[in-house]
Amino acid sequence: MTTEHIKGHGFETRAIHAGYEPDPTTGAVIPPIYATSTYKQDGVGGLRGGYEYSRSANPTRTALEGALASLEEGERGFAFASGLAAEDTIVRALCRPGDHVVIPDDAYGGTYRLFDKVEQAWGLEHSPAAVSDVDAVRAAIRPGRTRLVWVETPTNPLLNIGDIEALAAVAHDAGALLVVDNTFASPYLQQPLTLGADVVVHSTTKYVGGHSDVVGGAVVVRDLETAEAITFHQNAMGAVPGPFDSFLTHRGLKTLGVRMDRHCDNAELVVDFLGRHPAVEQVIYPGLEEHPGHAVASRQMKRYGGMVSFRVTGGEAQALAVCERAEVFTLAESLGGIESLIEHPGRMTHASVAGTDLEVPADLVRLSVGIETADDLLADLDRALG
Ligand SMILES: *Cc1c(COP(=O)(O)O)cnc(C)c1O
Repeated sequence: MTTEHIKGHGFETRAIHAGYEPDPTTGAVIPPIYATSTYKQDGVGGLRGGYEYSRSANPTRTALEGALASLEEGERGFAFASGLAAEDTIVRALCRPGDHVVIPDDAYGGTYRLFDKVEQAWGLEHSPAAVSDVDAVRAAIRPGRTRLVWVETPTNPLLNIGDIEALAAVAHDAGALLVVDNTFASPYLQQPLTLGADVVVHSTTKYVGGHSDVVGGAVVVRDLETAEAITFHQNAMGAVPGPFDSFLTHRGLKTLGVRMDRHCDNAELVVDFLGRHPAVEQVIYPGLEEHPGHAVASRQMKRYGGMVSFRVTGGEAQALAVCERAEVFTLAESLGGIESLIEHPGRMTHASVAGTDLEVPADLVRLSVGIETADDLLADLDRALG
């Protein structure tokens, strides 16, 4: 199928076909792993298909980038060596020393560290604000200096929801761009560019890759001017994924739709089960009507995702015991893979924010609900809860 042809097709069709047409010489239906750093030129400057050197472009990466752009409905997609490499490239392509950015007050820890310890030393100031509070984000903007409003939705681990359409309006009123970290929702559940965001960033390590076997990142932009800035910096900074990683990520991406539906099916069953369990104090999931972001999530997400957090009645000791007793749910950081994971944010992913305003409750447990047989997941949680 040609690129022109693919545009009107559904998500799953584009996930499988966008970005690549069967190889003209062999007919290979899957993009080969082009393990090459350089390309023969037909005379000086006579590039074949624009390929010159694999930091600038590599056909295996090009296929992945085309698919990402199509699924996020953007102008151009870019693949990176990690989510954080993608984030750093956005910042340095779009900001200058002396600029200011608004970031989530519960940002992914590595994102917070990047702004606080790396970009700040480079001259970029940041102010945290709650993404669920549009007025707080507006108040954090410094007119004339704020270049980016950066949000995650849903956030980690409390699954707060930011209203992308409203936040885009707030950013644009101030002459800033809205960047959305779409890692938790994935492009199957939410397409921020269609809601007014300017840039989408992903840790493709999570749902996009989906198999916990590769680290990667992605950026998708809605206009050509931003695309040119990212293109230049992707090459000039060089944090690109190799062809093997690009292949793995693209292979994962093709099944995103079916995986996400099963992640959501299983998460809904887990939420229902936990909600009825006497050892559970509170279940946090945007699909629940009592969740403060439920109405916004219902508007901007197709379903509510595979991440579930809950608080136990027995305090920190019980939360730790649940994490340690679970067997089908593997005790590990990260998320978004086919296998279910369990973790204690206070002691694990969010240990670095203990004692600050960003501290998470000690009785909180976070689940990345995988795509195993649902009954096995429920039985495992029942046993772990004691
Ligand atoms: C994991 C993660 C990142 C960082 O991505 P890496 O691939 O680990 O560099 C950024 N944002 C969110 C929401 C994440 O979960």
